[in-house]
Amino acid sequence: MKKFISITLCILLTITLCSCSRGFERFNKSYTDLFDTVCSVVAYDSDQKSFDKHSEALYNELDSYNKLYDIYNSYDDLVNIKYINENAAKAPVKADKKIIDLLLFSKEMYELTEGAVNICLGSVLQIWHSYREEGKALPKESELKDASKHCDIDDLIINKKASTVYFNDKKMQLDVGAIAKGYAAEQAKAFAKEFWSSALINLGGNVTTWGVKPGGARWIVEIENPDRSATEALRTVDVVDSSVVTSGDYQRYYEVDGKRYCHIIDEKTLYPADGFSGVTVIYEDSAVADALSTALFILPIEEGKKIINSLKYARAVWVDKDYNIINSK
Ligand code: ADP
Ligand code: MG
Repeated sequence: MKKFISITLCILLTITLCSCSRGFERFNKSYTDLFDTVCSVVAYDSDQKSFDKHSEALYNELDSYNKLYDIYNSYDDLVNIKYINENAAKAPVKADKKIIDLLLFSKEMYELTEGAVNICLGSVLQIWHSYREEGKALPKESELKDASKHCDIDDLIINKKASTVYFNDKKMQLDVGAIAKGYAAEQAKAFAKEFWSSALINLGGNVTTWGVKPGGARWIVEIENPDRSATEALRTVDVVDSSVVTSGDYQRYYEVDGKRYCHIIDEKTLYPADGFSGVTVIYEDSAVADALSTALFILPIEEGKKIINSLKYARAVWVDKDYNIINSK
């Protein structure tokens, strides 16, 4: 009887897998004008027309996050983070729910990362950004210290009910760069799950996946090697319903007197974090993974491990400055 049941189950499972995979093809699309990076999607859909329709809907959804979370550009009358930076110290600014939710989530990430990721560090990050663009010198310590007086996350006042943002510090500035892509990817995943049962979204290295491929295979994600002379990926991971997010010092940086200064700033020193070449976090929620990859890039390894171990199923890979690889549990 048991044998009969298991054979029947096997047959049923095979029929289910075959019918799922029948007619589903793999499609992909790249977008070059979102989040100041290259973004792409790979998905299984019934045909090209259906995929085109769905990928356009996904693009529009991602673009709404791209514009709302932009700190450098304005878009007609849109209240985005740039607008908030320019106006929220004068009076509370009414903002889209997508912004309010991101800011509330970012406050949670401040707690989880023990302050390592602070979206209110904008005044300090703006200084580093302009020196990095210039590419010649380091900012003066006094300039950084002055700016650091305006980074208290408690001065970011969010009224969820009224959907408003207010800065209780005239010089405070938001920078959501450490979290926004992962958060947008997570929201876009929820949106696209309505029409794709299996897909991978990549927002400039913030990869999120859901489902398995027709036939049952997992999504495979390659982790880039921070050692630019290496010819192979650092690691290849296969994931189910999971995200893979990397922070590194090898894409956005500049050099002064032969030393590399990257774009991730340690609030304790006010200087670029310099403990690692790259950190990758694997976790179901890509918004959390994005916040954590930035945090783990800044924090000493033992503190990073403590945070990773506090989350069920979270994994991390650190690559130090000599390209030694350290794994979490
Ligand atoms: P990327 O955006 O290159 O994928 P990250 O997710 O690590 O990499 O985010 C880096 C960005 O986060 C920086 O460009 C800057 O805008 C912002 N940032 C840097 N340091 C901090 C910090 N300590 N807290 C919050 N945001 C930060
Ligand atoms: Mg990040």
